[in-house]
Amino acid sequence: SKVLVTGANGYIAAWVVQGLLQQGYSVRGTVRNEEKGKHLRELCKSFGERFEIVTVEDITKEGAFDDAVKGVDAVEHMASPITEIEDPEEYIKPAVNGTLSILTSILKHGSKIKRVVYTSSCGAITSPNPPEPATYSEKDWNTTSIKVVEEQGRQATPHHKYRASKTLAERAAWEFYEKHKAEVEWDLVVINPPMVYGPFIHAVTTPLNLNASLQIFYAHVFSPTYSPKSEEALKASTSWVDVRDVADAHIMALQKEKASGHRFIISCDCYDWQEWIDLANSLALPTLSSPLPKGIPGLERLYMIKYDTTQAKEILGITKYRSKEESLVDMANDFARRRW
Ligand code: NDP
Repeated sequence: SKVLVTGANGYIAAWVVQGLLQQGYSVRGTVRNEEKGKHLRELCKSFGERFEIVTVEDITKEGAFDDAVKGVDAVEHMASPITEIEDPEEYIKPAVNGTLSILTSILKHGSKIKRVVYTSSCGAITSPNPPEPATYSEKDWNTTSIKVVEEQGRQATPHHKYRASKTLAERAAWEFYEKHKAEVEWDLVVINPPMVYGPFIHAVTTPLNLNASLQIFYAHVFSPTYSPKSEEALKASTSWVDVRDVADAHIMALQKEKASGHRFIISCDCYDWQEWIDLANSLALPTLSSPLPKGIPGLERLYMIKYDTTQAKEILGITKYRSKEESLVDMANDFARRRW
């Protein structure tokens, strides 16, 4: 069967596209312009006609996906802004209107579609910097970031702006589905990953055009210039997951009948930055162009944000996640190969 993947040139999407093709699916990927599809076309060349790319210039326009959804059996909607932008509307509009626009196109032209998977985020579950350590589940919603953005507008932190866009977009997807579910053949599944790290296969030329999460990781763990120097920043903690596990979850979300109507947190475990820095220094990593930062070894550790992943285990069957060691070594190899 054929799957439409939006924002196919992105970090996570490239792994989803490749995974789907490897499992025998046909894939239609959307990109914003022809140029953005070049690298992916090359990457997926061996799959021949099972892979195609279409251009959707502006995902927020009504009818933008009308042609893209025709003839596909399922959709993975992943396109959404994540890199730093000043105007909160530039996160929120593409996230919300892009989601509503593709769902409307599906309603009109996606008669074969059985399932829609929407890539949300743990940002739609938790607010950044919670006051005390806690464990969160799919029952939680981050409404704090929406309030912060309403109150502070452009002055809100990028974390809040991005998270507000993800909460609003996921909420819009569920509301659309609830409203139309009696008349449609498809159902909705949502994937909520925390920070996504691990090797990359999408188009990347410099550390500056890494996707947002890898850029943060590279700066903290591999760059002596940008790595944090203060105790507070080194102790900052949250949860993470390897990009390949997130991609696998997107494919399982298409395959498991029982996934219908659920959101799934796909999270490996917690970390703080000093922990990743210590780990990098303890492993025999390939030589990089700069010495690894050392941080302040021996800092006290307090994990602030944990996620309950029982639902993904019980319904999607995800029992094992790639480890910090595996993810770190594979990332370092990707950086070293590019002589960073
Ligand atoms: P990337 O930045 O690598 O990919 C984002 C994709 O969305 C690209 O194809 C990009 O296109 C497209 N996009 C961005 N802004 C717009 C816009 N305004 N209009 C149309 N398309 C747009 O990010 P990731 O792979 O990390 O993220 C993919 C999805 O996963 C997103 O929905 C993100 O919210 C979610 N996610 C990511 C996490 C992470 O840690 N990386 C964690 C949790 C969720 P272009 O290249 O043309 O800009």
